[in-house]
Amino acid sequence: MGKVSAAAAGLHACPACRQLAAADCHTCARCGAALHRRKPDSIRKTWAWLLAAAALYVPANTLPIMEARSIQEAQIDTIMSGVEYLWKAGSWGLALIVFTASIVVPCFKLAGLAWLNWTVQRKSAFAPLARARLYRLIDFIGRWSMLDVFVVGLLVTLVQLRIIAEVRAGPAIAAFGAVVVLTMFAAHSFEPRLIWDYCQDE
Ligand SMILES: [Zn+2]
Repeated sequence: MGKVSAAAAGLHACPACRQLAAADCHTCARCGAALHRRKPDSIRKTWAWLLAAAALYVPANTLPIMEARSIQEAQIDTIMSGVEYLWKAGSWGLALIVFTASIVVPCFKLAGLAWLNWTVQRKSAFAPLARARLYRLIDFIGRWSMLDVFVVGLLVTLVQLRIIAEVRAGPAIAAFGAVVVLTMFAAHSFEPRLIWDYCQDE
């Protein structure tokens, strides 16, 4: 016998305790948690947020992250040149932390969500458990998302400590913060229950 999703049977599951309730119930009969139906139009909304985040990722990495003004010269740096600076100065650990927070983690979140949304859109039955875990991982990282911005802020501070000059945060900080927030919106508009819809014959 094929499995039927709760939504198809006119039911929905409590997000806290997984108790099934009728679709018109608004609180869980067992634990009292607020029940909500599937996020409407989630695939299109997730694409929209992802596109916006990816678009802003370009200025986040090309605009100056800081503007350092010394007496002789005005020096303008991007995130990557900041990483390079730390690396060359011998702060390999810090260079790796900043590189991970500013390049690896945001790219992983964007690519992961895009892949999940794409598989759901083409009604793929591929590895639902692995995809559900990937979504939970991205969602988990998202809760620490302001850490990314914090680390990039740290980069500015570190460079400021090393050169005797006036350093101001550049426009890339704002773009980078927007990437983090938009990616968070994309993760929240994604509906992970869609992953299981086409995996009924396992
Ligand atoms: Zn419940």
